[in-house]
Amino acid sequence: MCGIIGYIGSKEAVPILLDGLKKLEYRGYDSAGIAVLKDNKIEIKKSKGKIARLEDLLKKSIPKGNTGLGHTRWATHGKPNNLNAHPHNGCNSEIAVVHNGIIENYLLLKERLISEGHNFVSETDTEVLPHLIESNYKDNLTSAVKESLKEIEGSYAIGVISTRDPEKIVASRWRSPLIIGVGKGEMFLASDIPALLKYTNRVIFLEEREIATITKDGVEIINFEGKILEKEIINIEWDAEMTEKSGYKHFMLKEIFQETMVIRNNLEDRINLSTKSLELYNLSLSLKNIKEIKKIFILACGTSYYAALVGKYILEELTNINVEVDYASEFRYRKILLDQKDLVMVISQSGETADTIAALNSCQEVGSHVLAITNVRGSTISRKADSVIYLNAGPEIGVASTKAFIGQLISLYLISLYFAQVRESLNFSEIKKIISEFIKLPQMAEIILLKDPEIIKLSEEFCNFHNFLYLGRGINYPIALEGALKLKEISYIHAEGYPAGEMKHGPIALLDKTFPVVVIAPRDKVYNKVINNIKEVKARDTLVLGIATEGDKEISNLADRVFYIPQTLDLLYPILAVIPLQLFAYHIADKLGCDIDKPRNLAKSVTVE
Ligand code: GLU
Repeated sequence: MCGIIGYIGSKEAVPILLDGLKKLEYRGYDSAGIAVLKDNKIEIKKSKGKIARLEDLLKKSIPKGNTGLGHTRWATHGKPNNLNAHPHNGCNSEIAVVHNGIIENYLLLKERLISEGHNFVSETDTEVLPHLIESNYKDNLTSAVKESLKEIEGSYAIGVISTRDPEKIVASRWRSPLIIGVGKGEMFLASDIPALLKYTNRVIFLEEREIATITKDGVEIINFEGKILEKEIINIEWDAEMTEKSGYKHFMLKEIFQETMVIRNNLEDRINLSTKSLELYNLSLSLKNIKEIKKIFILACGTSYYAALVGKYILEELTNINVEVDYASEFRYRKILLDQKDLVMVISQSGETADTIAALNSCQEVGSHVLAITNVRGSTISRKADSVIYLNAGPEIGVASTKAFIGQLISLYLISLYFAQVRESLNFSEIKKIISEFIKLPQMAEIILLKDPEIIKLSEEFCNFHNFLYLGRGINYPIALEGALKLKEISYIHAEGYPAGEMKHGPIALLDKTFPVVVIAPRDKVYNKVINNIKEVKARDTLVLGIATEGDKEISNLADRVFYIPQTLDLLYPILAVIPLQLFAYHIADKLGCDIDKPRNLAKSVTVE
């Protein structure tokens, strides 16, 4: 995982590279660097730490030139220091490379190159690339890159420039994302769309093992056999304004406040409000296929995995199909017991999560239909999957996922309702009843967001604790997991999510007045059970924050603090319950002065295994 940016045109490259790097910083921020090519010289500037430090360095002297590469690193091999920062160059400073991914056979290659006389300066796997390209160079950069990549095992997205063959950037990818931006008399290279939106929304998605030779007037793309490929230019609907903070202190806060819009976009797009029936686009499953599904596997990582756990409850409840959920990183190494009639669903905000892509590949090899839920059109997962449901959430920049989680939940509800409609596991009036309640969700989410000042007060009371336990039951158990994950990701406070009924089997031993418990306790069918759990917690002198249904007096006599959410159907509470937990984590992290949009050691999408 890292961010790559490239520019070739007639403008000065550095401001464009820096601007692009800032947009990509969510992908990694261990170090940053740029390389600029001019008059047969490549000038490299790099610095450990965030992009602001590189910017400070560049204030002293800005390399001039109209061709350049930039990189923001998420270290896999070698410490995040100046030497290991990208771009890397070969022995004669004639070649500069930026790389995202891991070169698995780098030690062997490095040994060989050293024995051939190459001199290495960093601890990275990446550094073998410029040396390899240098040793394979005959008469042009594209061929040298192509021959070098044939020797590489692992994953990569790379950008390469060279003084020997100026006026071009050569780029390629294998298991790491890379796109080309098409401008007028200028071209761009980037790991992700937001970095380009200020300049162009016309992009080409580079496929695995394609090699692009980019000049200021266009691009030629070949495969490993040297065959020239026809590629489509795609128009992206997102605009540059969507990637700005729009007055919010952090992207995460802006994105939480966009959740109402995410719910509304999805409903308007897929529910026919007059007939209250559903349409799902991009689903290439026939009605017969849907009727015949025997089992569903949902595979995901991180927050998407928790959305999948909620999805299990919804799908089983509405469609009577048995659902298994697994971490993609675990599933890919398990014995895969799939049947042609099993449906596989993969969930990934970015559509680039390496483990999820690998799991998807294994399932497709068995012949299963893979339905992807993702936010990014053109992403690897969206292109590989047999069917795709998009989150309609717009770009998510904050590293801790919020609005995408809401989009994933909504997508899972819609898929479940659609399957229930097709399989007739629910009758029309039952579906209508759920849809009628569904339509009220944007307004309900709005009510919660308007009570943000209440959460700010709660965060002031709770921000100095060092441990938290989050409890939920049934469909809200994954919300307890997600609430705890948000808190640890951005505030670095230890937090565990647990099924409320399991508390007595271990975690209760931890509880005392220094260890508060957040309990998700809406008025649903397991409410009374959760109330008993709150009593058990209170018997240990523990501070309890309850998330409860508006009007619930009983809980206010038990919990020390209560945040109320509007009343809805049991099945829909996760969407409303997670919003205050996201805000709670956000405000605590803010009180503690944490770097919320770029939490330490994390990166937005994990494109390495
Ligand atoms: N493996 C390379 C390194 O550690 C690239 C990591 C990245 O994708 O940022 O430098």
